[in-house]
Amino acid sequence: MEKKDMDWGNIGFAYHTTDQRYVADFKNGQWQEGYMTGDATLVLNECAGILQYCQEVFEGLKAYTTADGSIVTFRPDLNAERMMDSAKRMEMPPFPKERFIEAVEKVVRANAAWVPPYGSGATLYLRPYMYASSPVIGVKPADEYQFRLFCTPVGPYFKEGAKPITLCVSDFDRAAPHGTGHIKAGLNYAMSLHANVTAHANGFDENLFLDPGTRTYVEETGGANFLFVTKEGDIVTPQSDSILPSITRRSLVYVAEHYLGLKVTQRKVKLSELSEFAECGLCGTAAVISPVGKIVDHGRDICFPSGMDEMGPVTKKLYDTLTGIQMGTIEAPEGWIHKIS
Ligand SMILES: *Cc1c(COP(=O)(O)O)cnc(C)c1O
Repeated sequence: MEKKDMDWGNIGFAYHTTDQRYVADFKNGQWQEGYMTGDATLVLNECAGILQYCQEVFEGLKAYTTADGSIVTFRPDLNAERMMDSAKRMEMPPFPKERFIEAVEKVVRANAAWVPPYGSGATLYLRPYMYASSPVIGVKPADEYQFRLFCTPVGPYFKEGAKPITLCVSDFDRAAPHGTGHIKAGLNYAMSLHANVTAHANGFDENLFLDPGTRTYVEETGGANFLFVTKEGDIVTPQSDSILPSITRRSLVYVAEHYLGLKVTQRKVKLSELSEFAECGLCGTAAVISPVGKIVDHGRDICFPSGMDEMGPVTKKLYDTLTGIQMGTIEAPEGWIHKIS
């Protein structure tokens, strides 16, 4: 397989049009047969449901080359299930799990030349999504939908080691109580943009969002779940109905318990107790774990003892173990690595 001529270490996180994508339409009450296309452009009716009332859900996962040269994805069954849950909450027809996984395989195979080589740190990012494609003017769910899955190569998340980042406690909320915070809907991101731009303008890397009901408990950032390490070396992750169930966080919890023998507790975490933790990290597909060095709460600095120079030691162990499992240098739990070729 001749790879594309890319400077894999320096492509950053940006969209590149790749060769083939998968498309399936929902019409007449059922999902139609899917197909591959070289056409990256959509043509939509001006009144399509997605354009008027934002009926859309998405996923994000990566294909990459392991140490033995295989092309694999990580736990795509969980992305398929989460997208079905997201669709149900948005009154959209769930796209069947087996078909989701088949679409992942087809797109990765058709774009194998775009899967970055082992050791480059780069990956092929896969973006499955579905949106309301038929016209909707009165507020109601659309009759027709489209599922698409395209891919784009993305560069290494950390170019020169993982530098701890600084968060600010946001004055905005990410999700409403009993709202859509727990599903992967584009609308959650649309309304987080102002909070993001504001945080960046104030010199912060990300927002820490509080629970929207009482604004006393820690929820998550705009796109990653929290993982804390106590001074005793135990793991704590926040619990809330409006947190998006990160597959990376769930995998790290398993790794902590079953590979590292650490105690893990999922519970409500108060903003006021953050200064008692030793380490803090953000979990998501893009970075696996981004270390957090400092959280600023309206002028009050919460500095983690792990500091601003490197990942804390427990965070590092979790990171090394999960990335080792993903890259095939550490034995994976049954079913985690989905081999494509
Ligand atoms: C996608 C996402 C995450 C991370 O989930 P992963 O499955 O680990 O990639 C965390 N928070 C939000 C709000 C997200 O949309």
